[in-house]
Amino acid sequence: MNNYFVILAAGKSKRFHKDIAKQFYYFKNKEIIDYSVEKSINSKLFKKILIVTNNLKHLKKKRYPKSISIIKGGKERSDSSLIALKFLRKYKPKNIFIHDAARPNFSIRLLKKISKNLKKNTAVVPTVLSKDSIKYKIKDQVFNLDRKKALLTQTPQAFRFKELYNLAIKEKNKVNDEATLFLKENYKIKFISGENQNTKITYLEDIKIPKTYFGIGFDIHRLVKNKNLYLGGIKIPFHSGLEGHSDGDVILHAITDAILGATKKKDIGTYFPNTKTFKNIRSPKMLRPIINNLYKSNFSINNLDINLICEKPKVSKYRDKIINSISKLINLKKNQINLKGKTVEKLGLIGKEKAIACEVIISITKYD
Ligand code: ZN
Repeated sequence: MNNYFVILAAGKSKRFHKDIAKQFYYFKNKEIIDYSVEKSINSKLFKKILIVTNNLKHLKKKRYPKSISIIKGGKERSDSSLIALKFLRKYKPKNIFIHDAARPNFSIRLLKKISKNLKKNTAVVPTVLSKDSIKYKIKDQVFNLDRKKALLTQTPQAFRFKELYNLAIKEKNKVNDEATLFLKENYKIKFISGENQNTKITYLEDIKIPKTYFGIGFDIHRLVKNKNLYLGGIKIPFHSGLEGHSDGDVILHAITDAILGATKKKDIGTYFPNTKTFKNIRSPKMLRPIINNLYKSNFSINNLDINLICEKPKVSKYRDKIINSISKLINLKKNQINLKGKTVEKLGLIGKEKAIACEVIISITKYD
């Protein structure tokens, strides 16, 4: 095992963030660079791992194992790569892998595949096909490129150390990757299929993680004679209806409160107080502006779980109708809504059919 792994982490990444270089950005549970560090260690393929960076102070604070060296990088990527080659020469490496710290998503399997292919080749480079169609511009003319023949090169790229060193030391121009050096001299490269998930992080948007929130809602209304019963926005035939300033629809009120809870926007009473304006208001009218705001703020609903607590009416009899109505009201697929009926063993007001209660849990996600 005479393999050496170089992680290039000297870039300033101005397109990413004004203050933090992307390789040191905290993504999920660690800094982006540490995905490459950990995978290269865990692959057990490397004698030494060399990080080339312009933020020595920050990296030296980390307690990396002894097999990791950290050195100062150059201005351009190709400068840093050459600095790494010059530094490693004294160890007389047989093979060298060069990797951009901005690609945290490669797999150890890819490392092993590259290593295996390097046994019979002097240069191994993973590539993927483009998802977009590609045009090529020469002066003012634009040409179509056959997408199936356009190779997008990724890192890690691996080489016989000696060959790469000799090419890099001669090169006077800045190059984007080590494969370029080989291609310029018409040296053979073994291209292997890379990994679609092994994308390069360029913009902050590339790693934005959707945020999920939960909200809870509860409501109870007294049942009274001579009133229509509304549940989930539809009229249900029953001996009584729900008393209230509005139509008393406990399901819609609990949903509204759950949404307000998940988005930290207080409660339904804040928006619909018991004033003349809202006297006898139908509950879909209360829910609609709240749901519109939710979608306008780029939230989407993952699921809605409802407990309707009453002796009667039987929930099973109206379940489909109620779910159908809620689905239309909040523009959510029926299979994302669950409605459970819960009786209370004839206990208390609810047990004596004098009230109906409802509780709701909602899960929502924001993607921007
Ligand atoms: Zn209510």
